[in-house]
Amino acid sequence: MKVKIDYDLCMGDRNCAKVCPQVFQYDEDQLESKVIMEEIPAHLQDKVRQAAEECVPGAIVIED
Ligand code: SF4
Repeated sequence: MKVKIDYDLCMGDRNCAKVCPQVFQYDEDQLESKVIMEEIPAHLQDKVRQAAEECVPGAIVIED
């Protein structure tokens, strides 16, 4: 699994970084979350899916 953020949609509310901090990290300088992992390991995939479901503007794009 790979994941990316669509910055045209992201509103920077940090929720993804709260749900799965191992994968999403909030950048205080850019005021947006970043994906800090290239390939999502199996034990984090459910959390990434949860973050995507909770992302209100639908900015988290999962590529299986
Ligand atoms: S949860 Fe969605 S809108 Fe919020 S910071 Fe993460 S990607 Fe952006």
